[in-house]
Amino acid sequence: QVIYLNGKYVTKEEAVVSVYDHGFLYGDGIFEGIRVYGGNIFKCREHLDRLYDSAKSIMLDIPLTQEEMEQALIETIRLNALPDGYIRLIVSRGTGNLGLDPRRCPVASVIIIVEQLAIYPVEAYLNGLKTVSVSTARNIPNALNPKIKSLNYLNNILVKIQANLADVGEAIMLNAQGYVAEGSSDNIFIVKKGTIYTPPCYIGALEGITRAAIMELAEQYGYKLKEEPFTLHDVYVADEVFFTGTAAEVIAVREVDGRVIGSGQAGPVTTHLMEEFRKIVFVDGVQ
Ligand code: PLP
Repeated sequence: QVIYLNGKYVTKEEAVVSVYDHGFLYGDGIFEGIRVYGGNIFKCREHLDRLYDSAKSIMLDIPLTQEEMEQALIETIRLNALPDGYIRLIVSRGTGNLGLDPRRCPVASVIIIVEQLAIYPVEAYLNGLKTVSVSTARNIPNALNPKIKSLNYLNNILVKIQANLADVGEAIMLNAQGYVAEGSSDNIFIVKKGTIYTPPCYIGALEGITRAAIMELAEQYGYKLKEEPFTLHDVYVADEVFFTGTAAEVIAVREVDGRVIGSGQAGPVTTHLMEEFRKIVFVDGVQ
C-alpha cells in the first residue's frame, strides 16, 4: 500500500504524523471520503470543491492547488493499482505546539489513503437496514456547521456508539429543534405517496455528494422531490426510507425505532434510484 504524505509517496509504516499535529491534538482539519469506480474518481470536482470550501471556512491553507490535489489523487490510485476503492483525503492544520493557536502550524499536512472498502453486507442492500433515532443532536450552524467536513467527528461517533448499542447499522440524528437531520455518516431521504423528501442542509446536515447525485437522478426520472424539514413521525409513516453516502451509496431502511417502514424491504423508488446510481458511478468520473 502506498500513501501520499505531504508530497511523498510512502509505505503504510512510513506514513506517520507528529503527535504535535493539530489534527491529532484538536481535530483541527478537514477530510473527504471519495470513491473510485473502474479507475474513475466519482464526482472528483464536487469532493475537491467541498474540501476547499471547508478549508476556506476554517481558514486553513491547503498547500496544493485543486489541480495538484487531483493529480495527487490520480497518482495515489495508480500506485496502489486499485481501480475500485475508497479514497480518504485528509488535510490537517499541521504540526504546531500544544497551544491551540493555528498560527503555530505553518504548513497543513496532506494525506491520501486509498483502500478497499468494507461496506454493509449484500443482505442489507436487499432487505434494508434497521435503524434507530438517537438523542445526540446534530450541531447547530452557529457552533460548528455540519456543512464543514471537519475532523471533529465525535458527535457522529457518539451516534455510531448509540447505533452499536442498539445493534443497528446506522442511526438518525435530529437537530436541536427535533427535525430529522441525517445519519452518522449518511444523508436521509423518505418517500411518501410518490414524493421524495430530504431535509435541507440548514437543518444540520452535510451537503452530501451522493445526496446531490440522487436528487439529480430523482429529477431526471420525473419524481416529485421536496427539500423540506420533517420529523420522526414522518419517517415512521413513510412508504420508504433510505440513506445515501459515499461509502454506503444508496441503502434502504426497513425499520426505524421498531416501526417497520412500508413493506419492510427496499421499496420501488429506492430500488430504482439504487439501480440508476449504479449506472452513473462508472461513467461520471475523472480518470
Ligand atoms: N453526512 C455525514 C455526516 C457524512 O460524514 C457523510 C459522508 O461523507 C455524508 C452525510 C454523506 O455525504 P457524501 O455523499 O458526500 O459522502
